[in-house]
Amino acid sequence: MNEFCQRARAWIADNLPHDWRSASAETHGEQEFLAIRRQWSRMLYEAGWLGLSWPQQYGGQGLTLLEEAAFAEEFAAARAPDFINRNAVGYIGPTLIAHGSDAQKQHFLPRILAGDDLWCQGYSEPKAGSDLASLQTTASDCGDHWLVNGQKVWITLGSEANWCYLLARTSTDRPRHRGISAMVVDMNSPGIEAVPITTITGSHEFSELFFTDVKVPKDALLGELHGGWKVAMTTLGYERSINFFARTADFRHEVSEVAELARRTMRGDRPAIEDQDIAQRLARCSEEAEALRHTIARYLPIWAETRAPGAESSVIKVMWSEAHQRLMELALDILGPYQQQRTGDGAEGDGKWPLGYLFTRAETIYAGTSEVQRNVIAQRFLGLPREERPRD
Ligand SMILES: Cc1cc2nc3c(=O)[nH]c(=O)nc-3n(C[C@H](O)[C@H](O)[C@H](O)COP(=O)(O)OP(=O)(O)OC[C@H]3O[C@@H](n4cnc5c(N)ncnc54)[C@H](O)[C@@H]3O)c2cc1C
Repeated sequence: MNEFCQRARAWIADNLPHDWRSASAETHGEQEFLAIRRQWSRMLYEAGWLGLSWPQQYGGQGLTLLEEAAFAEEFAAARAPDFINRNAVGYIGPTLIAHGSDAQKQHFLPRILAGDDLWCQGYSEPKAGSDLASLQTTASDCGDHWLVNGQKVWITLGSEANWCYLLARTSTDRPRHRGISAMVVDMNSPGIEAVPITTITGSHEFSELFFTDVKVPKDALLGELHGGWKVAMTTLGYERSINFFARTADFRHEVSEVAELARRTMRGDRPAIEDQDIAQRLARCSEEAEALRHTIARYLPIWAETRAPGAESSVIKVMWSEAHQRLMELALDILGPYQQQRTGDGAEGDGKWPLGYLFTRAETIYAGTSEVQRNVIAQRFLGLPREERPRD
């Protein structure tokens, strides 16, 4: 593994332009940052650093999740920008590997790694978020095609993606969880409208999607008919675990950056780090970063063997998202009166701390809220009784 890490570190050092380190939409502007991420993805793909644990026949490297985690560490240490297709490489591709037909895998997987296709994930609806099984978008069987009707909301990359991995109801007669199917939908199909939503950070990273009589070919089904719940749970397992390798690795570096911020920011005539409260909160963040690292290290060999992250992924998700919120709150407290300033004199790091703070509000929501993760942990780890829910 040491040899692998050294090779990864050397490649990043030789290839990552200096100006791209710690790049963000704030430092480069939304469009330029998107272009950087596209180009960076292409470079990573061509050098064989994307899809490390994917089968070689689909453009991957045939390695394990151990290498994926090790690469995420090197990536974070270099403060490299995120690649464009993180959702597809991190969890939609692995879902296709687990449930896709041979034709779907042959067609889509290499294109995901090459960045040829951008994907979005169509789960949430106005009346189906945490209670995903109550989704109402329908896919009616019309003989030689499906006809999709309904509305999705909060869809990351919904306006940019050219493919959507969609959950739709294919039966209203069966129990809720067993009447849902997963399918892959071409976003250029007639009848799809994407309406961007502006977030609290001012970006347009997600959209509402409206499907009106959208014709979808029969072979777009992903997994078994009415088996969409199983496919969806596979995705969530990956989304809450492997996809967070990079974020948890980033977190450790952010703790060091906040410590540095506390050293150079003055509170009266003393650096903020000499304030007892600041120092103790920093120490807690640092402990949380280490705890996360060790928790992932404990689960990694299990995931590497089974390739199927289970309920443990909820532990990682809830630990990371809540610790990250605490860290960003701390950064703002250190900045004091300058905490609101994202540009101009006195704005620290191009406004990355207030921006980071705002973005962390979303982290305890997407990929399943903290409350929902705790329900999973309570039931699957602690063996507590299931909560009362509508009967299936
Ligand atoms: C940045 C971001 C990106 C997203 N990207 C996507 C995407 O690409 N694709 C997609 O499909 N969705 C996406 N989402 C939507 C996300 O999956 C949902 O917001 C999330 O599942 C919560 O659903 P909801 O918003 O409907 O809230 P609700 O489910 O209505 O929850 C409201 C509150 O009630 C609590 N609650 C609900 N049920 C329970 C329960 N059983 N026990 C205890 N408390 C409960 C929740 O914790 C929450 O605090 C994204 C969201 C965000 C913020």
